[in-house]
Amino acid sequence: MSLASGPGRAAGTSVDLKLCVEKHIDYIKKLDSRKDELEYWLTEHLRLNGVYWGLTALHLLGCPDGLPRDNAVDFVLSCQQENGGFGAAPGHDAHLLYTVSAVQILVTLDAVDELEKRGLGGKLKVGSFIAGLQDKETGSFMGDEWGELDTRFLYGALNALSLLGLLDLVDVAKAVSYVQRCENLDGGYGVTPGAESHAGQVFTCVGALAIAGRLDLVDKDRLGGWLSERQLDHGGLNGRPEKLADACYSWWVGASLAMIGKLNWIDGSKLAAYILRCQDPEAGGFADRPGNAVDVFHTHFAIAGLSLLGYEGVEEVDPVYCMPKSITSKILSA
Ligand SMILES: [Zn+2]
Repeated sequence: MSLASGPGRAAGTSVDLKLCVEKHIDYIKKLDSRKDELEYWLTEHLRLNGVYWGLTALHLLGCPDGLPRDNAVDFVLSCQQENGGFGAAPGHDAHLLYTVSAVQILVTLDAVDELEKRGLGGKLKVGSFIAGLQDKETGSFMGDEWGELDTRFLYGALNALSLLGLLDLVDVAKAVSYVQRCENLDGGYGVTPGAESHAGQVFTCVGALAIAGRLDLVDKDRLGGWLSERQLDHGGLNGRPEKLADACYSWWVGASLAMIGKLNWIDGSKLAAYILRCQDPEAGGFADRPGNAVDVFHTHFAIAGLSLLGYEGVEEVDPVYCMPKSITSKILSA
């Protein structure tokens, strides 16, 4: 795969597509100042995840100081609950997915030590909350004390615990064997054993195996074949056969291919062109498909997808953690 000639040209379109970096930075920065708008309240349940998506996208766009650091750290800590986990916003029940975002934000801002100084019980308390969600029988994880098992939670748990240096709080071998049971004959993975393959679940299962150091268990040719069939004629990627393309699958599919060393099995130039057609060149941000309304979730995963493809001007992303590579390299080697 070579993008040296410019992704726009390979798209077979006369428009010279390029990434509107400044517009996207402005769009993300403004998300924080729209508290009077209905959209803000409708998305409150996504707040802590939203900060992670916005912050990571800003880093990848070369604007790491785009959100005020102290405000971001204060907000994260205000979402922590007595049990050590984090909710979506202050006063919300703790859930694994928000706890993962909290850890990722604190790591990105180099602020994990704030957990010891101002958090409720330090990072060990956070790790214990996560470890308490592992199902002792199967090795999988629940999202909260009530929840069902889902490989998204298993991946999230290993992601956050490894960033905190606390993987030994859980039974990693048992989690790995659960992931193996979710593998299907087509090479993909589902949400539970026997469930149909889905690119989002493939990402979480392969990511979990990568963190556990067990990528040797993946049938890379078979999985690479299934993943590369997700690319449609217009260059975009879908999550399952017969489904429409969506910019966020640039990440779920692309990162999975990158982790197994098969990213060159799809046409990167065509994918980059598709992603760029999903951006709003005037107001900034990315949508799931060209012409649709933008949101911070798709903005983040579209930019992360461009990063996987080595798009010029975008910082390198870590395909396992979906965080800037410069940050994960530092913390994981410490
Ligand atoms: Zn999407």
